[in-house]
Amino acid sequence: MLTALNDEGKLISLVNVPKNLAKQKLSSHYYCPVCHEHLILKVGKIRIPHFAHKQFAKCSNSTTEPESPRHLLGKKHLYHHYQRNGFDVYLEYYLPEIQQRPDLLVKKGNHLYAIEYQCSPLPRQRLMERNAGYRKLNILPIWILGTKPYKKRKNKIFELSDFQFSLCTYTSKAGLTLLSYLPEKQTFLQLSKMTSLPSTKLIGLLQEIPLEKKFPPVHDLPFDFQTWLNEKRTWIQYKVYYGNLHNDLFLKEVYTTGHNPFLLPEICGLPLPHAHLIYDSPIVWQFYIYLDCLQEIPIGQKLSLKWVNQRILQRINNGMITIREFPLDFNNQYTWKVPISEYFSLLTSLEYLSKIGEDLFMIEKKVKIPKNTEEALIRENALFRRDILHSLYSNNH
Ligand SMILES: [Zn+2]
Repeated sequence: MLTALNDEGKLISLVNVPKNLAKQKLSSHYYCPVCHEHLILKVGKIRIPHFAHKQFAKCSNSTTEPESPRHLLGKKHLYHHYQRNGFDVYLEYYLPEIQQRPDLLVKKGNHLYAIEYQCSPLPRQRLMERNAGYRKLNILPIWILGTKPYKKRKNKIFELSDFQFSLCTYTSKAGLTLLSYLPEKQTFLQLSKMTSLPSTKLIGLLQEIPLEKKFPPVHDLPFDFQTWLNEKRTWIQYKVYYGNLHNDLFLKEVYTTGHNPFLLPEICGLPLPHAHLIYDSPIVWQFYIYLDCLQEIPIGQKLSLKWVNQRILQRINNGMITIREFPLDFNNQYTWKVPISEYFSLLTSLEYLSKIGEDLFMIEKKVKIPKNTEEALIRENALFRRDILHSLYSNNH
């Protein structure tokens, strides 16, 4: 902690205290603003000066202790960052109604934000409880990751952990975004415009923003179709060679319905702006849509999106499709139905369907199974050369 009460009951902060504060005491005693127990002022070599509870303290505020050196330092940097940007900043402000104490509470105009600087993974349940607390007080929580915003990186392809996914936000301007702050480099790392690849990896735009610099605008990321196709082919090969027919529900479904994983219709595995809302690869759920809703349906037949969603829901309930939840989407604006509806719009643009009502589509073209891998490649390449696919990512979505 960087704040404590002194003998006179006044809140003191270490945020502006230089590192060489040494033993120059600010007060003779320090007390926890939450439980009022004695605190120890720690001045060491590794961490910046901070307060700590005595061992075995039963304070609700001491559960996250000991704070790591990075956490303390990052919190201090962020404090100054928000202050410089014209916010009223309150360090470790205790909110008794919800018994929570965000790293920073910042205020601009009538808006209140709780800044949570998170250096270690937090279970989803805890994350959701903390968010719910803030929302009760009309405070918008902003989570900043204390480590890199990805688990693995290869050029512009990223892999995220479930914890990292859980801290992502979505805006129409920046797309799916995750923000980090690295105190040792005094730099923000922003990973935005993320879109799912067939392998459940993502393509994204990584920007390094030094602490004193303004955040630059996020530009559109042209979608790289060659990468997409490579990932798609690698994903299928990997499945076939290493997948287990007993545990792999997708593979099992492909074979038991008489299909060949290398000869799936070209419409199974198309990119969509909101594909990240479904945990499984787009190849998987688009194949199920083909099986459940499009296969063997004659040209001219009508089908409603509502009916399609019901079929998908069955697959979700059977555990064959897994939904990815984004706890920071407070309005529940983005559900799994979004990528399904995007998929149907795309199939309409590709002239497999026509839209004949608000929720109603008509089959225009039969979905074909390629006879051999050569034909599969030709069909896939032809589809991916279509302008429609390219325009999908240049528009704001
Ligand atoms: Zn305490």
